[in-house]
Amino acid sequence: MKSGLLDLLVCHECGAPLAVEDSQLRCSKCGQVVSLTNGIPIFTPVAGEIRPSEKLIRGSDTGTPWRKANWRFLEAQLTQLPGEARILDVGAGRGDFAVLLDRFHTTALDIYPYPEVDLVCDLTICNPFRPASFEAIVLMNVLEHVFDTQALLARLSELLKPGGRLIVAIPFLVKLHQTPVDFVRYTHYALQRFAPEHGFELEVLEGYYDPIFFLSEGTGNIKYAYLPALSRMKRMAARALLGTIQFLVNRLELLLGPGVASPAEAVRSQAPTGYHIVYRKITT
Ligand SMILES: [Zn+2]
Repeated sequence: MKSGLLDLLVCHECGAPLAVEDSQLRCSKCGQVVSLTNGIPIFTPVAGEIRPSEKLIRGSDTGTPWRKANWRFLEAQLTQLPGEARILDVGAGRGDFAVLLDRFHTTALDIYPYPEVDLVCDLTICNPFRPASFEAIVLMNVLEHVFDTQALLARLSELLKPGGRLIVAIPFLVKLHQTPVDFVRYTHYALQRFAPEHGFELEVLEGYYDPIFFLSEGTGNIKYAYLPALSRMKRMAARALLGTIQFLVNRLELLLGPGVASPAEAVRSQAPTGYHIVYRKITT
């Protein structure tokens, strides 16, 4: 088990401390047992419909423009935290952002026992942590995969220290992914409303606007979803037209440059690829 993790954990039934006993965790008060698999505490059973993600190398310059924008956003937010900050990475998966998070005291949580995670727990139904344990919680491209959004946000609010930050990236116009575990897209009006509902103030709410990405997604969709079903002649004609469109899109990209991050309220009429948010836990 990751060193220091036991200090953060409590029994999810009664809140009493846990101890390692016979290769499992046992509650000192009620006797509740939590299994350890390869040293990872498993608080909730792993759902059968999850198809595990593959490990990809992530960085500031890899993946889609949205991915790159996420990296820059998280990197900038983390510079505001002290080195001793305790961070919870929720839906850490294959450790996409571990390079940025590892210099802090980061706990990696997921609902699937990837080798990169420190514990397995569905926080919408189970709480294995002491209240107010973290200076920051990271939720990067995860909220859309959580069915009970409100339950998760309520939980994360409990787990943050007063003044602590919940750092979120959530796609808006991004195609379905990791199906069937992909449930929602929220507008920034909903994302704003979540703040007062869960004891946060909204510190940052930015849209990431990238019309070129949007156009490329469209042409890619035609290429993969529609072309194979066409007759040979139509397919050739469609390919030629798509080639022309792609040429024009590339020229347009040279003119426009990459996507831009902008306060969501300031850009009312556009279509964001996704949103970047910082919710600050209200100090009472
Ligand atoms: Zn207990």
